[in-house]
Amino acid sequence: MLCSRSCPDWCIYIEGHKQLAPPRRAGGKPRQVNHLDRFDIDYALCMYCGICVEVCPFDALFWSPEYEYSEPKIADLLHDKAKLGEWMETVPEAPDLEAGAGK
Ligand code: SF4
Repeated sequence: MLCSRSCPDWCIYIEGHKQLAPPRRAGGKPRQVNHLDRFDIDYALCMYCGICVEVCPFDALFWSPEYEYSEPKIADLLHDKAKLGEWMETVPEAPDLEAGAGK
């Protein structure tokens, strides 16, 4: 959610709902979990500032070297979860951590 709140263009749309999941152990209470219904980015508005990538504490967003996704209709520049997932094939492997990092 930090990505959508930090986006200066407000072009990341996230919607979800809470649902009950079975307890982790016998006799426990059902758990409430978040379920993602929508994660869209409107590339008609995005200015490629990279703030969303930088602020994500889970490293869930990535840069891709691909940038050619023009569309005849501007509405088609709204990429949903499935369309965004297709871009993962173009994301390069993360470089190795520097010596001593991650400890
Ligand atoms: S790169 Fe695009 S989607 Fe990400 S914060 Fe900047 S304008 Fe918003």
